[in-house]
Amino acid sequence: MSNESSDLDSLRERIDQVTLEMARLIIERSKIVGQIGSVKQRLGMPVDDQAREARLRAKVAESCQNADDVTLASRLLNFLLTESVRAQSEHAGIGQSHMSVFAEAQKLEAEGRQIIHMEVGEPDSAPVSAVADALASACSEGYTKYGSALGLDELRDAIARRESARGCSVERENVIVTTGARFAVYLTIGSLLDAGDEIVVIEPAWPAYADCAMRSGIKVHRIHTTLESGWEPGVSEIESVITPNTKMLVLNYPNNPTGKVLPEKLLAEIMDVAAHHSLYVLSDEIYSAYSDSGFKSALEFGYDRTIVTQSLSKSHAMTGFRIGYAIAAPPIVSKLAKLQSLCIVSPPSPIQYAALAALGANPPDTPGIMPKRLDAMISNAGRLEFQKPDGAMYLFARLPRGLDCHSIVSECLRQGLAVAPGSGFGNYPDFVRLSACQDIPTLVRGMNIINSVTAPS
Ligand code: PMP
Repeated sequence: MSNESSDLDSLRERIDQVTLEMARLIIERSKIVGQIGSVKQRLGMPVDDQAREARLRAKVAESCQNADDVTLASRLLNFLLTESVRAQSEHAGIGQSHMSVFAEAQKLEAEGRQIIHMEVGEPDSAPVSAVADALASACSEGYTKYGSALGLDELRDAIARRESARGCSVERENVIVTTGARFAVYLTIGSLLDAGDEIVVIEPAWPAYADCAMRSGIKVHRIHTTLESGWEPGVSEIESVITPNTKMLVLNYPNNPTGKVLPEKLLAEIMDVAAHHSLYVLSDEIYSAYSDSGFKSALEFGYDRTIVTQSLSKSHAMTGFRIGYAIAAPPIVSKLAKLQSLCIVSPPSPIQYAALAALGANPPDTPGIMPKRLDAMISNAGRLEFQKPDGAMYLFARLPRGLDCHSIVSECLRQGLAVAPGSGFGNYPDFVRLSACQDIPTLVRGMNIINSVTAPS
């Protein structure tokens, strides 16, 4: 045997030993994760502890010999921490969200109960009639085949015109049609980031950003904003969590759940930070139709790593059609298309024709009526505390002191009202999200229920 092949054998023996030792340590670590999770649960502590994670990260960095090692060790640490948070959250039964309450409410309805739905954001109007006509024609005329993973060209053009009309320069090449904005978010995170990368999410936030990231082994840095600070994130806080492994910042304005729209100056400063660190900016602008004139799209900053996700769900009352899109630079669009092709081949063809018809007609005026509904809720908000939303379709409200969202959500459901727990949007156990997607008398009945459930005993 040559020297080289005996060297290879001994190197392989060593790498096997190291790998087996790592596997043993990872299993041992996961047992400790479970034990810590149980103790935290008994003590009523949250799963996520970013300060502790930061201390561990610093210790790991100290134990490394050079910057490349720090980056590598930090990626591995991200993977381990993400797994720990996921395991402890599952163990603690964390995961009650607006969607799980919706599922519970539907179950009760199937048993014959009447439930007021203030947990999900689903416009109560119907799509314009042109949508059903276009869907029927698409089927009868045979537009029922597989299509391009990028979406139908005519629809991409119509979307480009829609976005350009808002003042952003968008062409067909910048557009990918997706099955809802939710899938656009998944495609963006899944195709641009890898396991061990890091993403920054400003909370309270729609839970899918963190869920998508964690599912792919991506570490989530959560920026906790408060009612007292008007739900505005600190620029220096965002900067402080960025490391060489941080690849993306998520923005969502008008925000779900708070309805906040950031002041333009603050948005500009955040975009500057993202550009300075070459981060992708995922700006989910699905509620842009539900905002006053203060809203500015992230596209308007002209930063080439920006991905805007959009949908016809809320703007055109087409939630069940599952049709949305993303806008980005062509190289990013083709990465998203590759993953979309892998997952679903193409968005459903007949639905795309229906979406084309929707974009060619005047949409239902749900955005126009939303402020009046929110005002009605605000006038009947009892002891709830909140900031008046700038847009979207929700009130994110703090419960009176000492009350916890889980017990209030359960009690409201018992009394026929479904509301979303604040804990589904970050560390907000004393908040609930109330959706304004009902007529005003129904909303007032819902507010009366929550007022009686939260009244002093
Ligand atoms: N983004 C946000 C902020 C949302 O609130 C929602 C749905 N509630 C979505 C995206 C998903 O929208 P779609 O129905 O287009 O998947």
